[in-house]
Amino acid sequence: MYADIIIDITHEKLDKVFQYAVPSNLEGKLSVGMEVMVPFGRGNRSTKGYVICLGNECKYDPSKIKEISGIVSDSMEIEGKLVALAAWMKEQYGGTMIQALKTVLPIKQKEKAKVKKRVRLLLSEEEGKEKLEYFLHKNQKARARLLAALLDEPTLEYELVLHKLNITLSVIRAMQEQGIVALESKQVYRNPVEGTKENIQITYTKEQENAIGDFWSDYEKDIRGTYLIHGVTGSGKTEVYIEMIRRVVELGKQAIVLIPEIALTYQTVLRFYRTFGDRVSIMNSRLSAGERSDQMMRAKEGKIDVMIGPRSALFTPFKQLGLIVIDEEHESTYKSEQIPRYHARETAIARANMEQASVILGSATPSMEAMYRARNGEYKLFEMMNRTGRHSMAEVYTVDLREELKKGNRSILSEKLQTLMEERLERNEQIMLFLNRRGYSGFLSCRECGYVVKCPHCDVALSLHNSGKMVCHYCGHEETKPSCCPQCGSVHLGQFRAGTQQIEKIVKERFPGVHVLRMDMDTTRKKDGHESILSAFANGEAQILIGTQMIVKGHDFPNVTLVGVLAADLSLYADDYRAGERTFQLLTQAAGRAGRGEKKGEAVIQTYSPTHYAIKTAAAQDYEAFYQEEIQYRDLMGYPPCESLLAVLLSSENLQLLDMGCRYLKEFADRLNKEKKIDIIGPATPGIEKINDVYRKVLYLKAQRYDTLVKVKNYLEKYIEVNPGYLNIRVQFDFNPMNIF
Ligand code: ADP
Ligand code: ZN
Ligand code: ZN
Repeated sequence: MYADIIIDITHEKLDKVFQYAVPSNLEGKLSVGMEVMVPFGRGNRSTKGYVICLGNECKYDPSKIKEISGIVSDSMEIEGKLVALAAWMKEQYGGTMIQALKTVLPIKQKEKAKVKKRVRLLLSEEEGKEKLEYFLHKNQKARARLLAALLDEPTLEYELVLHKLNITLSVIRAMQEQGIVALESKQVYRNPVEGTKENIQITYTKEQENAIGDFWSDYEKDIRGTYLIHGVTGSGKTEVYIEMIRRVVELGKQAIVLIPEIALTYQTVLRFYRTFGDRVSIMNSRLSAGERSDQMMRAKEGKIDVMIGPRSALFTPFKQLGLIVIDEEHESTYKSEQIPRYHARETAIARANMEQASVILGSATPSMEAMYRARNGEYKLFEMMNRTGRHSMAEVYTVDLREELKKGNRSILSEKLQTLMEERLERNEQIMLFLNRRGYSGFLSCRECGYVVKCPHCDVALSLHNSGKMVCHYCGHEETKPSCCPQCGSVHLGQFRAGTQQIEKIVKERFPGVHVLRMDMDTTRKKDGHESILSAFANGEAQILIGTQMIVKGHDFPNVTLVGVLAADLSLYADDYRAGERTFQLLTQAAGRAGRGEKKGEAVIQTYSPTHYAIKTAAAQDYEAFYQEEIQYRDLMGYPPCESLLAVLLSSENLQLLDMGCRYLKEFADRLNKEKKIDIIGPATPGIEKINDVYRKVLYLKAQRYDTLVKVKNYLEKYIEVNPGYLNIRVQFDFNPMNIF
């Protein structure tokens, strides 16, 4: 037996693995993740290392291989547990052990991240402008210059203020004393939330009580498991998480709360802070690598009990992890886009199993995967169907855009929507208009009957390529673009072109003088752009907010009483099998945005396909009906969660080489497939055929069981490793992909 050992796992350059022989007295006693002592280097200095792989194959000259000297201790340290988790991820998702280790281990930064100072404006825009007038009037040029800059960009780097704006520290200090600006250093991240621990007593609803009670009765009996809370927005899920965590923490254990970054708002964190005070910490993408590693170290040293953050917070090195909560479990951001392309839900469950923790999944629109498993009895299901407050669910109207066209209305704003918008503007309430472009891939549809051109083999929409061909992104099926509608004969067959910018223009023309904010990739590019637009809207600086799916998450807007979904079809006819699910989720979330305050909300869903089940069930806010229809489709077509799907993405600068690589790989997969356990589909050309001059192709493998695909992946990885033809082809595996390539 031989073992691969990694010596220094906190090193930045985590790329050296050493092979050692397993002495006979240790045979059968070692497992991945275990801490061992090995002789290292010229002097054979006794050094600590971690087992990352065990096997029979000796990769070096056997006479030169050294032996492991001993096991450090039987109980696994947290690093060891994470190493074991990395091994699991490598097996489940593909890639190398090093890539997996880099994903899970907190790497110490060689150099401490420098303290970055920033100057932040503390005044509102209005107050700021007033002050600016004053400074100009008093001829206080330096102050005016700084304030003007801050009115453009509320947070500025200290260096920039000093050197580019030529402002001295004494000017900043003076303005700080006047309460105009704050001078912040890295410390702001250290203790990201301030507030006081409060003791708020709430009386739980019956549904909340059930969830907490059932979970706790299992936990006290040392039963660990996965629980899915299906609870409408406002049903009090967050309160339930907090109470569950509070009890787990009382036992001396720790908890991780995963939240999609976009929903990780100050308001949310504040609620956790009230219960856990400074024993809670957060992670987000704005932290530097150094700051992240600081947070991880605090967790390891037992300085915090609760870590809140996006996907990567899952690897917080808590010593006694007791609970992992995944809020908005259906979000696609829980799937990593980097190798290993892991899913946080599955990985959280794997980690929880290894460390005797439980997992709570929460969503108003659970993913098909999670609900399927809950129905199979793998997870326990808690339903929370009632809102805690007075607010009722929004009234939802569906508008048939085909009828609008017949009536001669060619605008993107239907008559119904326009009428409701007018009402809102009169009453000084707010409106959100939402364009769900996510996943939009250039499908072709009939404006008169709503017909969409689909792949005859895969039942997903075909995409129109520049060449004029209609292409399937799964199987590669191609056909020429029809000149008229195959269903009704109409020649009004086209792609949907409107973007947020055009919609802004149309809205401004239709409602002159009304303040409109727009939120999309363009307007949020700046750091905090996202947050600043949302808070401007929350402050009432505009009556209408137009945006992509970004606007349906995060902030609560009590004054929004109308939500318009401009073209539900955009995400409905995305070119992948999750299109229906995603549309249902987006529409439900969008409708949930209306009427969060005292006033009743309404939502308008505009569509060419008013009878499509995803749209009908979303309008009726009927998750169950949606699930039943969708699961039939998945089952019929053999898509996850009923079966498993593996995308093999190949990319290369050399198209010929790439084609050959695909062909050989497919042939090899065919040879493995003697028992016909897998369907091999493609190669297909992805939606984006070329990125930075690198061509891409995808093969899809379908099988009843996930582990069949894992085995195939292992064979393919070996095949690729030993075949020099793949030296210039990059191959990535993606199991049950969330997004099409
Ligand atoms: P969700 O996470 O399901 O959207 P929240 O936990 O955020 O729901 O609850 C929505 C609102 O209702 C919050 O303001 C919360 O403080 C409040 N709330 C939750 N549970 C209760 C309760 N049992 N009694 C009163 N208010 C509650
Ligand atoms: Zn038609
Ligand atoms: Zn197809």
